[in-house]
Amino acid sequence: MRITIVGAGPIGCYLGQLLKCYGFSPLLLEEHSEVGIPKHCAGVVGSSFFDASKIPLPREIIKKEIHGAIISYKNQSFILKRRKAAFVIDREKLDKKLSLGLEIQKETKLVSLEKRGEEYLLYTNKGIFRSDLIIGADGARSKIRKLSGLKLKPIYYRGVQFRIRQRVTCQDMVQVYFTKPFLQFCWIIPEDENVTRVGGISPFKPLKELKDFMEKMKIKGEIIEKMGGVLPIGYGVTVKDNIILVGDAACQVKPLSGGGLYYGIRCAEILAHCIKKGNLSSYDTKWKKAIGGEIRSALRIKKILEKVNIKLLEKLFTLAKKNSHLIEDVADFEHHSVGVFSVMKKLGLSFPGMLAKPSSDVDF
Ligand SMILES: Cc1cc2nc3c(=O)[nH]c(=O)nc-3n(C[C@H](O)[C@H](O)[C@H](O)COP(=O)(O)OP(=O)(O)OC[C@H]3O[C@@H](n4cnc5c(N)ncnc54)[C@H](O)[C@@H]3O)c2cc1C
Repeated sequence: MRITIVGAGPIGCYLGQLLKCYGFSPLLLEEHSEVGIPKHCAGVVGSSFFDASKIPLPREIIKKEIHGAIISYKNQSFILKRRKAAFVIDREKLDKKLSLGLEIQKETKLVSLEKRGEEYLLYTNKGIFRSDLIIGADGARSKIRKLSGLKLKPIYYRGVQFRIRQRVTCQDMVQVYFTKPFLQFCWIIPEDENVTRVGGISPFKPLKELKDFMEKMKIKGEIIEKMGGVLPIGYGVTVKDNIILVGDAACQVKPLSGGGLYYGIRCAEILAHCIKKGNLSSYDTKWKKAIGGEIRSALRIKKILEKVNIKLLEKLFTLAKKNSHLIEDVADFEHHSVGVFSVMKKLGLSFPGMLAKPSSDVDF
């Protein structure tokens, strides 16, 4: 079977490696001349990113171990501590390592698609490619998603980040500053002793918000790299005939933070297994069984938070601060809604604002 993966990002490459292990010879089409460039990632992953992967992910990409987070809004802060909760990684190196040994046709941009009989014709700037199976691993603004007419229309958040030559005092924690509690935020991530990653995510003007944030925090070091990108937030159908989406193209992204590496890797594993078994149509059901419930719950939480006014969001932040010990106990880096619902249960709360009997270790 001729398999073409459009997009040699981390998810397309990881899928390519899995398929090679299963005896297939996928061809990857990549529009850029170099894998891993341009970058669009803060490079923070939870510890299960490495622990749960079917193919060992290269640990030499780890730049720093993270043992918790400082969460702030205006002049309020709280700390969540957990040993080795996350890692700061070199994202370019991850993509490059995952691409080794794969057949990648670079500087080849997919522009159009046609089904002719049982096969697909992929029209690119480098000519026509023929394939029996097409996998769209072509990122947030997936062309395959648009051309296939799949029912999946994400909303886009935008993210920007600067790498700055400046040491931060807090070397083993990520700092998260909400500009709007739980919905929009900026971050400070220590990369190593001398370099800090400072960024932000927002549906509106992330660059302006980031610059305002840097001014407020008096972050003045030399900017050595700038990057930005979009985060696709949504949920929908990911298989149509022999066209399949995975990773950001399929919106396999955490709706509350925009992180997509962990879900993308998990879903690539599910997809590779379905291809191996010759059961493509079960992929949509299978990945949704694995992480779809989490994405749907987080989307629901996000929708409710977007509707409430800023005063209530501020009260929720204060509530979270007072009960940070509960969050520390149950928070799950990969499954945000599980953490939110566990804390709410302990607080005797449920959406949309129902109050039940709280447990005794709760501070109001
Ligand atoms: C600012 C920012 C910060 C982020 N921080 C984190 C983080 O800390 N942790 C985390 O887990 N996630 C983070 N993410 C999300 C993460 O970067 C994505 O989830 C991840 O890159 C998805 O991988 P992918 O392979 O699906 O898509 P991509 O990485 O987007 O790769 C898609 C590939 O397809 C290629 N392509 C696109 N269109 C075509 C075409 N028509 N023809 C040929 N090739 C094409 C692209 O060039 C690219 O190489 C962040 C995102 C942003 C924007």
